[in-house]
Amino acid sequence: MKETWNNLKRVYSFGKEYKKNMIVFMVASFFFIFINVIYPIFTARQLTYMTSGVFESLLWATLVVFLFDILGAIRMVIIRKNTQIFFRGSFQKLQMKVSQEILKITVSNIDKHSSGVFIERLNHDCSELSHVFTKGVGQLTGILTNIGVLVAVLIINPIVFLFYLLASLIITYLYLREVEVLSKKEQNLRKANEKNIGLTGELVRGVRDIKMLNARDSFMKEIDKSITEVSNQTFDSRNTEIHYTAVIECVRALAMFLLVILLVYLVQIGMINLATAVVLFSYRTNIMSNLMQKIGDLLSEVKMFNVSANRVFSLLDTTEFSKETFGKKHLAKVHGDFEFQDVCFSYDGKNQILNHLSFQVPANHTVAFVGKSGAGKSTIFSLLCKLYPVTQGKILLDGIDINELDENSIRNNITIISQNPYIFNMSIRDNLRLVKSDLTDKEMRRACKLACLDDFIETLPEKYDTVVGESGVTLSGGQKQRLAIARAFVQKTEIILFDEATSALDNETQSKIEEAISNLQKDYTILMIAHRLSTIVNCDTIYFIEDGQVLAKGTHQTLLKNCPAYKKLYETELKAQK
Ligand code: ADP
Repeated sequence: MKETWNNLKRVYSFGKEYKKNMIVFMVASFFFIFINVIYPIFTARQLTYMTSGVFESLLWATLVVFLFDILGAIRMVIIRKNTQIFFRGSFQKLQMKVSQEILKITVSNIDKHSSGVFIERLNHDCSELSHVFTKGVGQLTGILTNIGVLVAVLIINPIVFLFYLLASLIITYLYLREVEVLSKKEQNLRKANEKNIGLTGELVRGVRDIKMLNARDSFMKEIDKSITEVSNQTFDSRNTEIHYTAVIECVRALAMFLLVILLVYLVQIGMINLATAVVLFSYRTNIMSNLMQKIGDLLSEVKMFNVSANRVFSLLDTTEFSKETFGKKHLAKVHGDFEFQDVCFSYDGKNQILNHLSFQVPANHTVAFVGKSGAGKSTIFSLLCKLYPVTQGKILLDGIDINELDENSIRNNITIISQNPYIFNMSIRDNLRLVKSDLTDKEMRRACKLACLDDFIETLPEKYDTVVGESGVTLSGGQKQRLAIARAFVQKTEIILFDEATSALDNETQSKIEEAISNLQKDYTILMIAHRLSTIVNCDTIYFIEDGQVLAKGTHQTLLKNCPAYKKLYETELKAQK
């Protein structure tokens, strides 16, 4: 109860702005309770006047019923309009908050979960939470109406009241059992759903690779397993529902049968007249079906609401997913020198990826990292952007530990261009605007020219307004990399990290990009992980990384002399080019 109350308060805080609408639909709902209670009295009267031929009274009763029906229609419009406004507003706010919080979750936590975990919470669970007041008020109104009807029955005849009460209690008990069993099954169903959504997302995003790898059959096996799991869980829940519904329907039919016998008996012994018997009889559907169903629905709603609330709030708080933490110091503009001091790092707490790594990069220098694949080069970049926290040691930016800096000081001053950059399903212009909302046309064209992308854009039907598809699917690998490079040029941060960013470019484009990068070299601190060593021969310093440590450092010429591993790598590349 306390848990539900706290969750309700928290959900309400998202719809506070629409308090007026909530009050209107609550008042409209509760005001009509009394009309619902007296409505059956008039319909019963209609019936008795009709059978006894008292047509004048029949006309009056029919007029009242007609008025109630019109009022009912007005009520429906008022309630639906206001609930819609309340729902839409609170849902929007909740989804915005959840989206914001997802972006704060640590990358290592995101890596561990399927995307379905977040998508399901963002959509289904947020909708469930925002509906709670509108659904809850509807169900509560129904329950109160039926309680009102029960009170009316008690006043009219206590024996029939006792009968209704007993039948109601039996049916309520059965509903409660059903809700209990179903809510446990629902939790498992949601988990299976999350997994399935994640997998179907991969099916769509990975469709090309699935085709090219000819992995259709094995992927379909995984999909089959996941869909079967969801469908088994759903089937199991529906089966339970069917069994309980069948039992409840039988109990209800028996109660109706006994009710008629009871009413006939009471008329025969003269305790009630026929008209009263008809009124009492016409309350039956209200009491025996609606009341129980509504109590059951409300309880089930509360259970589902708490399940969704726990899933959403555990994401908003830090109970299930840890969030990124930043310091308070702010650097509006950095010089661009940084240092790794004895840094150790492991992704999983077992395999050490960086081992006591130390190096220093002065501002406006161009530095390259080379080494075998898996040596830990990209990890250095991820740590510098604080995508993962270091396990031991320190990373200093302008002499300040990055743990003491706020998010903007790090992310507004460092750009990373990865080998497989994420391009959003937006126009080229909007992809660039993401990093600078007030981007001018001139800046946009200049960045694309520097990234050697302008000629290609001119060939597109809608030029800069061409939408590039999910993850930039309509672009080639090289075009995606050039768009990412243009994005970095727009962002103009002091530190630019190129993580094999030119690997997918042909020689001509690559040399153009290298020229653009060399133009930046005097003003920016540039770090590169190079696919081809020929691209880094002019760097100020080259670090040869092996097993997460610096094996050797120096210029290209010094490394050729002093580092056999570097020399071998270079010679292998030269041979491959011949
Ligand atoms: P490089 O850039 O030198 O090729 P990386 O820094 O990408 O090497 O990777 C170093 C090691 O860390 C590799 O063994 C890789 O499998 C592992 N690794 C990289 N990213 C992750 C991750 N997100 N989670 C777990 N292990 C990772």
